[in-house]
Amino acid sequence: MVKKRVDVLVLNSNETITLDSPENENGLGIVDHGGVAIKQGKIVLAASTDLLERKFRAGRTIDVENEIILPGFVDPHTHLVFAGARDTEFQLRIEGVSYMEILRKGGGIIETVNRTRQASPESLFQFGRQRLDTCLESGSTTVEIKSGYGLREDDELKILRTVQRLREYHPCNIVPTFMGAHAVPPGETSSEFVLSIVNEMLPRVAQAGLAEFCDVFCEQGVFDSVESEMILSKAGKLGLRLKIHADQFTDCGGAEVANKLHATSADHLVHSSAIQLGQMTKTGVTPVLLPSSSHSLMTGESADARGMLAMGLPVALGTDFSPSNWMLGQLTVAALASRELRMNASEIIRGITINAAKALGLEKRIGSLHRGKQADLERGSEASTEASKRTW
Ligand SMILES: [Zn+2]
Repeated sequence: MVKKRVDVLVLNSNETITLDSPENENGLGIVDHGGVAIKQGKIVLAASTDLLERKFRAGRTIDVENEIILPGFVDPHTHLVFAGARDTEFQLRIEGVSYMEILRKGGGIIETVNRTRQASPESLFQFGRQRLDTCLESGSTTVEIKSGYGLREDDELKILRTVQRLREYHPCNIVPTFMGAHAVPPGETSSEFVLSIVNEMLPRVAQAGLAEFCDVFCEQGVFDSVESEMILSKAGKLGLRLKIHADQFTDCGGAEVANKLHATSADHLVHSSAIQLGQMTKTGVTPVLLPSSSHSLMTGESADARGMLAMGLPVALGTDFSPSNWMLGQLTVAALASRELRMNASEIIRGITINAAKALGLEKRIGSLHRGKQADLERGSEASTEASKRTW
């Protein structure tokens, strides 16, 4: 048999976890003693080492020496570009002051907004670059990044341009999200601010092509469900896809807005009703759960992952990395998902790969080792720094 030429052959894994199995099946599509053939950065075939060696010859062969191969992890929810830390806030939380109380008093998000507004684009880029390096080292090859620490047009654009620069520079795949509606700036009412987002910021962001998604913090005391719907409807009309921080602290109608507008994902869902969660099986909204966020808030409250899985929902997991939740690794999230959400290993692996890709609308491009997908691979528990579209 004439062997077909590929660029790279990755061989001799103990297990290759392809996740290339039918939808709604919990199987991981494991190939024993397998590997992956790659050409022009795309997966040609994930199969047994024997078969790959018979079918292909390659310019470069990587022997993974009995380690495990997985799709690169996808982190569908981060607030990665900001300046400053909020270590004093943790002390307040330990003393029993709630997150929302801190925000109401001008701390929390507002404190980070003040620091980020003062920061130069170059310093924001350097913070982002270092954090993305940590993401990649922890196995994430795709990372969503939200704006939301500017809260006025120039500063939101400054953050989104930083994300754009990171996108061009860094080997991670980066998905940019505009989240001007992250908090109400001091001195403004939420209705005034919503109007400035809808009439000024969103058109500018969409015109500049700086975001793929729009997100809103739908929560009591921040943006209510009517305001959230107004912002997201406008974003949808401008061609952005939709996400929502829904029902994190209270059941405030966030999941309902997600269902109504067919958002790509609804995130947090700690207090969402079973009715709205059940509705997601019909509307195609992907639930994104963020157990490290609940962990950092020290509220002891978690989303009902088991209930969602029983409904057949494709539960995705993300870090929710932010200054109030300094957590960049999806493997740490995996550990928390097991302990606090009672998810099993295959549910967790799906949660940080194919379901997380779905939460970004990228399930046809990444998240499994399916033929034609991007060759973003993770080896053992260590991200391959070669696992980028640039190298392969
Ligand atoms: Zn968030």
